[in-house]
Amino acid sequence: MKTAAYAAQSEDSDLGPIEIERRDVQADDVQIAIEYCGVCHSDIHTAHNDWGGTVYPVVPGHEIVGRVVKVGSNVSNFKEGQLVGVGCMVDSCQSCSACDEDLEQYCEKGAVMTYGSDDPISGGRTHGGYSNQIVVDQKFVLNVSEKLYTKAVAPLLCAGITTYSPLRQWNVKKGDKVGVVGLGGLGHMGVKLANAMGAEVVMITTSPEKGADAKRLGASEVLVSKDEDAMKAQAGSFDFILNTVPVAHDLNPYVSLLKRDATMVLVGALNPLPDLNGAGLILGRKRIAGSLIGGIAETQEMLDFCAEHDIVSDVEMIDMKDINTAYKRVMDSDVKYRFVIDMKSL
Ligand code: NAP
Ligand code: ZN
Repeated sequence: MKTAAYAAQSEDSDLGPIEIERRDVQADDVQIAIEYCGVCHSDIHTAHNDWGGTVYPVVPGHEIVGRVVKVGSNVSNFKEGQLVGVGCMVDSCQSCSACDEDLEQYCEKGAVMTYGSDDPISGGRTHGGYSNQIVVDQKFVLNVSEKLYTKAVAPLLCAGITTYSPLRQWNVKKGDKVGVVGLGGLGHMGVKLANAMGAEVVMITTSPEKGADAKRLGASEVLVSKDEDAMKAQAGSFDFILNTVPVAHDLNPYVSLLKRDATMVLVGALNPLPDLNGAGLILGRKRIAGSLIGGIAETQEMLDFCAEHDIVSDVEMIDMKDINTAYKRVMDSDVKYRFVIDMKSL
């Protein structure tokens, strides 16, 4: 089946229209007509080949919400017309120790990502959600509540789970003082989710003008990271920090904010990081860790948690043709707080 899509053709070209092929629905497949797709900073890193290894053309998009149009003969959990989601993965080996523990994102054979992976079924590369239709194995399709504002659900599929998973893994609970670094797509979901878990959330930002929004989203306080005196005043006071900064940056000032035995989890920068002062960790038994999206079971848990707590993303809707302007604005930290493409415009 051919479907319309938008692709990057090289690391320095704008995204533009393309036609791609989707496989015919197989026994375990769900065919989805995509209604909305969020724009993650990872889409931009991939289109621009920031991490190396991008194969062009690449169709980004891994925050997908749409309706089922067809299911295979083995599929009983999804029906035509049902509202569903697809996140960052579309397959995994299903037999390694990570997959056995519902941690498909750490699949030892490598999870098949929604875009830019080798496609084990159709050959070639997988293509993401900047398109009209997608065909996905039922194990990687999520159930989306009709209760939530559908347009604003899409970003939960990546920004939501990437922040929910570490907050759960590090057992963030009522009364904890949690810092969220970077008020963008991931950061604004981190603030909402940590707040819903009962934490006292401090927004740590380079953009003082975002302070009022941070408070509206659920932060009780705003800490401007460029203000050295303000940073010193909060040294040693955080139970947990979630760092969403998308580029290499100096971690030492954030480590200083942690209490003894507390952890900062990095979800943003995938590149080498500048020098880390060992004393900052050793004198206080502090920890720096990383975290990658979340497994399928946990993604469903997060979607159910959001339905229960009425949490969605704050979105700016765009037409497909406006994607290149949206990319520029994300790179300028100027998005409130996630762009979502209305796929009707494709
Ligand atoms: P985003 O919307 O661009 O938000 C990032 C925010 O970080 C910006 O709004 C800005 O917030 C802050 N920031 C930007 N440059 C900075 C700098 N040089 N120093 C300090 N702060 C800076 O990006 P996103 O979509 O949330 O994604 C964030 C990162 O997470 C990206 O690298 C993305 O690839 C990655 N990611 C990882 C996973 C995972 O599984 N680990 C999943 C999805 C995305 P302020 O203006 O508030 O400072
Ligand atoms: Zn993403």
